Amino acid sequence: MALKKGFVHVYTGNGKGKTSAALGLCLRAIGRGLKCTFIQFLKGWETGELLAAKYLPGFEFIQTGRPDYDFKPTEEDRRRVHEGVKLAEEKLKETDVLVLDEIIVAVHLNLLEENRLLSLIERKPETVELVLTGRHATSRLIEAADYVTYFQLVKHPFYRGEGARKGIDY
Ligand code: ATP
Ligand code: MG
Repeated sequence: MALKKGFVHVYTGNGKGKTSAALGLCLRAIGRGLKCTFIQFLKGWETGELLAAKYLPGFEFIQTGRPDYDFKPTEEDRRRVHEGVKLAEEKLKETDVLVLDEIIVAVHLNLLEENRLLSLIERKPETVELVLTGRHATSRLIEAADYVTYFQLVKHPFYRGEGARKGIDY
């Protein structure tokens, strides 16, 4: 199956659930026989979604981040982001749903030029659904998208000292 027309999603804001929402969208799409490619930027450590992907035919999961990424970006992170974007441009030609997880953060951190991402959106094939996630979406990205969802932080156990939990947060 292929989509007749693909749209662009932006999942942004500082509440929990952006990556989870993108994974949920993929699950639904895979159920309908659509091929999904999920490229995770910046983060390069083992996640539940990375492990789950191998059980789902039609779900390709690729991490482009450094395994030891510590939220302090380096030149290597910039290089990895640019390689991830080149890969994304290739995948646009051969998938139905493409998720670029945390790519909005890469723009926010100046590891990727906003215009480069905007031009990828513009050149997206008509039938591909494109999902961009990450805090701090710029107004031009919001303008370029069809669906924009803001995840508003109300409470998160992090703020009472709870660490990230395996299987729930990663
Ligand atoms: P998830 O991957 O759980 O859907 P997310 O993609 O919305 O969350 P990210 O900004 O990618 O959130 O952060 C990923 C990790 O940080 C997750 O472990 C998540 O629980 C945690 N997290 C999300 N929001 C916050 C927050 N406001 N403060 C602290 N930690 C957060
Ligand atoms: Mg995320």
